[in-house]
Amino acid sequence: MNTPKDLFKKCYDFTLADDVKAQGIYPFFHPIDETEGPVVSFAGNKLVMAGSNNYLGLTADPRVKEASINAIKKYGTSCSGSRYMTGTVNLHIELEEKLADFFEKERCLLFSTGYQTGQGVIPTLVQRGEYVISDKDNHASLVAASIMAVGQSAKFVRYAHNSMDDLERVLKNIPETAGKLIVSDGVFSVSGEIVDLDHLVDLAKKYHARILIDDAHAVGVIGKGGRGTPSEFNRVDDVDLVMGTFSKTFGSLGGYVAGERSVINYIKHNASSLIFSASPTPASVAAVLASLEIIKSEPDLTTRLLENTDYVRQGLKNAGFKLMPSRTAIVSVIIGDQMKTMVFWKKLFDAGVYVNAFIRPGVMPGHEALRTSFMATHEKEHLDKVITEFCTIGRELEII
Ligand code: PMP
Repeated sequence: MNTPKDLFKKCYDFTLADDVKAQGIYPFFHPIDETEGPVVSFAGNKLVMAGSNNYLGLTADPRVKEASINAIKKYGTSCSGSRYMTGTVNLHIELEEKLADFFEKERCLLFSTGYQTGQGVIPTLVQRGEYVISDKDNHASLVAASIMAVGQSAKFVRYAHNSMDDLERVLKNIPETAGKLIVSDGVFSVSGEIVDLDHLVDLAKKYHARILIDDAHAVGVIGKGGRGTPSEFNRVDDVDLVMGTFSKTFGSLGGYVAGERSVINYIKHNASSLIFSASPTPASVAAVLASLEIIKSEPDLTTRLLENTDYVRQGLKNAGFKLMPSRTAIVSVIIGDQMKTMVFWKKLFDAGVYVNAFIRPGVMPGHEALRTSFMATHEKEHLDKVITEFCTIGRELEII
């Protein structure tokens, strides 16, 4: 006789998080009590934040906060509906127009998160018999969105990370008559590495594929005036669609895609994650509008961000740490072992430095890392503290 299987058995068997908590090295879900940007407080203890994506420090900027507060006063706390129905306010339209202009595209469309943006763009555009062709290291949200496309009989193929030879091999094997979308992070979220965009564009042209770049970690960081990866490579017109998030440089919450008028119009009227989900709140949108003005008028912020990151990168490199390749605002230190990564994380935490532990499912086994990222608003004393504590603990754990 067959024994009935309880769906929840996997949950009852999942002990990893509790085991790690019992050892006192659990690196996730720690509540912050207070944040001023580069310094945060956990249970009353001050730590240098070296793991946030608040790249330009705008979440703590009084102008951005004020804009959010004013929007709440005018529009209330929620739009209580989707953009499609009753959830569009003037601020959404104003931001879409300003972002289209900023990214030098005909139109822009807002979503409630970056995650939902991928889900709104990829399965809406890539349909039965068409191909989504994705870098193996693309963000998890793009993978999830591509799997949604598979659910409607599209094909999902992946190429080796940033390998244009492998991308060409994949493209060669796809029927010429099939619609194709090449999807890549502009700046890869774990390593901070930049996509090989020149070669990617050449291949897209040769094989008649369209391009979607997810610039979540690039805007405010690279490109002319922080305009991201297409601008960095002078390829704005060659990248069909750029998408991104407001949860990093823009100091808010939400996502966007920008491109040509008819494509954005199609997504706008067909994307399930847009039509069936409530629109970004007035407070979130107003914060982005304020941040955008700051990004445009204060390019020094990006310069400071990159100087700060380079300072730490050099310090850690000189100390002998193995780093992932990056010249952006992310410095990932390879540890290569799950337990050692969590122990290192906890020792940094206790020493007053907060970073991100990247273990499964964030990275593959053997690639475990401590991912640090920096802000324009870090002071030299914060950066020195990060380097010093990394070195002390690195020596103690025999990593350097
Ligand atoms: N794309 C990339 C490359 C990301 O790094 C992230 C966030 N980590 C997202 C999309 C999702 O953005 P959001 O946080 O707005 O959902």
